[in-house]
Amino acid sequence: MAVAVPRLEERAPSQCDLVVVGGGIVGLAVARELSARHPGASLCLLEREPALARHQTGHSSGVVHAGIYYRPGSLKARLCVEGARELYAYCEGRGIPFERSGKLIVATDEAELPRLDELERRGRANDVPGLRRVGADEIGEIEPHARGIAALHSPATGVADFGDVAEAFARDLESAGAAIVTGCGVTATRAGRGQIELRHAQGATSASYAVFCAGPWSDRLAVAAGAPAEPRIVPFRGGYLRLRPERSHLVRANIYAVSDPDLPFLGAHLTRGLDGEVLLGPSALMVGARDAYRLSRVVPRDLAATLGWAGTWRLVARHWRYGLAELGRAASKRAFVRGLRRYVPELSARDVVAGPAGVRAQALGRDGTLVDDFVISETERALHVRNAPSPAATSSLTLAREIADRVPG
Ligand SMILES: Cc1cc2nc3c(=O)[nH]c(=O)nc-3n(C[C@H](O)[C@H](O)[C@H](O)COP(=O)(O)OP(=O)(O)OC[C@H]3O[C@@H](n4cnc5c(N)ncnc54)[C@H](O)[C@@H]3O)c2cc1C
Repeated sequence: MAVAVPRLEERAPSQCDLVVVGGGIVGLAVARELSARHPGASLCLLEREPALARHQTGHSSGVVHAGIYYRPGSLKARLCVEGARELYAYCEGRGIPFERSGKLIVATDEAELPRLDELERRGRANDVPGLRRVGADEIGEIEPHARGIAALHSPATGVADFGDVAEAFARDLESAGAAIVTGCGVTATRAGRGQIELRHAQGATSASYAVFCAGPWSDRLAVAAGAPAEPRIVPFRGGYLRLRPERSHLVRANIYAVSDPDLPFLGAHLTRGLDGEVLLGPSALMVGARDAYRLSRVVPRDLAATLGWAGTWRLVARHWRYGLAELGRAASKRAFVRGLRRYVPELSARDVVAGPAGVRAQALGRDGTLVDDFVISETERALHVRNAPSPAATSSLTLAREIADRVPG
């Protein structure tokens, strides 16, 4: 989904006080926060695509996460619980549709119980509202077609359309007098003499300070500006299947597998969106382009960056079994559905059709570690958001505050 904004500036200014690069939900939230804090300053947001929210923001599962998974004390844990609360309040105030539909994380065999225990421990440490352990009978009461031996129920989890939220942020920005310029990809930066100059598709803009929120491309300008080479962004495609409308009664809200706390991906899940449509997925497959919405898309520069990074090979050596299983699920609808039948036994391959896809910008360390937490790095007169994976859309309001706190006054 691409977001339309009532009035987009056609030309980038040659001079302004603050610049934000990237018109996804994070860049828009940061720009909105900065314009509220610095009402007298001129601010512009530069977006490469012809419309806003064309990448991760417009291709997510739309789940408002409650904060269960994240290591207590991490930025994600701190910003998600509060971020979800603020996002619901924002949607309510602005008339943006959302639903606190709840979620079950279901264990189907004894071997999964220690991981379910760990998720429960994390959820309680993070003060996730209303989180409860439920047994097999109660699983059936909450989700009549789901089966398991134990589950965590999170009533505070919900769904929203992050494209709608991004659009509302853009309208706030516009009301505050900020310029939003699309079709204006930033190609290079240079800092010095109390300014930062950004070279872009329309020439150049000089500013006192810049914040880069470039999602899948976030490492490129950061490293060029002198930030450390790691983490590097490696793209992981998330493909979905759609449940046929006549079978959508199989899922009331959100049914999730028990994820591996060592991996940042939450595993495939079944999610009923605001329109009543149920999506199954996403998969997590390393791909050859940072915008590989089609599996066959390869961008030589992106592929070279992935294959030339030592961390990629260390990751493959460590998680090749998981990678092969994901490849199987991406290649075969049957294999994908077989995995989810553990949670919803009535599900069959005949019930699904191909669905949308998104590409996650996953930061990868040189040692092969999939970086889990949000990462922000600093260069002269600039901040770079280097890793803003899920739940960054849920946490966009609180993450924006965290970033704005680091922008000199
Ligand atoms: C499949 C999938 C499912 C997800 N599910 C959820 C979920 O259920 N809940 C949740 O909270 N989060 C979810 N996420 C994560 C969430 O979507 C992201 O964390 C969030 O959208 C990140 O926003 P962003 O603004 O950082 O990135 P993006 O939305 O990717 O925006 C980055 C923007 O920067 C622009 N840009 C890049 N380079 C330049 C440049 N040089 N010059 C100008 N502009 C540039 C791009 O064009 C793009 O518009 C999911 C993500 C994916 C991919």
